[in-house]
Amino acid sequence: MRIDVVSIFPGYFDALELSLLGKARQRGLIEVHVHDLRDSAHDKHRSVDDTPAGGGAGMVMKPEPWGEALDGILGEAEPDADPLVIFPSPAGDVFTQTMARELADETHLVFGCGRYEGIDQRVFDEYASRGRVRLVSIGDYVLNGGEVAAIAMIEAIGRLVPGVVGNPESLVEESHEEDGLLEYPSFTKPANWRDRSVPEVLLSGNHAAIDAWRREQRIERTGRVRPELLSREMLGRPPGRHAAE
Ligand code: SAM
Repeated sequence: MRIDVVSIFPGYFDALELSLLGKARQRGLIEVHVHDLRDSAHDKHRSVDDTPAGGGAGMVMKPEPWGEALDGILGEAEPDADPLVIFPSPAGDVFTQTMARELADETHLVFGCGRYEGIDQRVFDEYASRGRVRLVSIGDYVLNGGEVAAIAMIEAIGRLVPGVVGNPESLVEESHEEDGLLEYPSFTKPANWRDRSVPEVLLSGNHAAIDAWRREQRIERTGRVRPELLSREMLGRPPGRHAAE
C-alpha cells in the first residue's frame, strides 16, 4: 500500500516511523510519503490560508496550493492505482473498524490534512469530479488539524494490511471485530498483584471454560459500556456497523 500525506506540519508524521508501522515501512509493506503543503505555496510568505469569503472568524485554506500538491501526487500515481483521497473532517463520515477494513484493501491512499477553519470547498469538488474523494471524521469533536486524525486512520488501516501484525489471530479477537463486541479484560503474570487475583478460570487450563468466560465478559462489558453495539450483535448485524444504520 502507498500512502501520501499533505500537511503544513509534516513533522507530525515522524511518529509513523515507530513501532509496527515503522517496521512495516522498512519491510516495504507500506510506503509513506509526506508532503509539505507550503512547498506548493509560492508567494513571499508561502501562505496557504486567506480570509473566508462572506466574512466570519478564522481563516480558510486556499485552493491553489492544494491543487498543485494534489495534482503532483495524483499525476505520479501508478496508472491502475485509482487513488482514494481522504480529507479528515469533523463533517465527514465517521471512521469505524469496518471502514478501516475497507480502506486496508486500497492500494493508494492520499490524506489531505486541513488546518484553520478547513479547506476551500472547491478543492473537494474538483478532486471528487476527477476521482475518488472521502471526507472522514474520527469522532464528534474538533481537533486543530487533520494530522492527528490522519495518523489515527493510518494506524488503524495499516495494522490490517496483511503481514503488518505478526500474528493475524490477534486481529480477529479484538474489539469491533468479528461480532462487533468489545474485547474481554486481559490479565498476565503474576497471578496475584496487590491482593488482586487473575480470575481462576484463566488459570484452569480448561479452554472451553476460558472461551465461555471471555464471551460472557465481552457481552457484559459491551452491554455496560456500548449497549448500542450489543443490540446490533443480538440482531446479527455485520460488525462495525451502527445500530442506527
Ligand atoms: N471549521 C471546521 C468545522 O467546524 O467543521 C473545523 C476545522 S478544524 C479546526 C481544522 C481541521 O482539523 C479540519 O479541516 C480537519 O482536517 C481536522 N479535524 C478537526 N476535527 C476533526 C475530526 N473530528 N475528524 C477528522 N478531522 C478533524
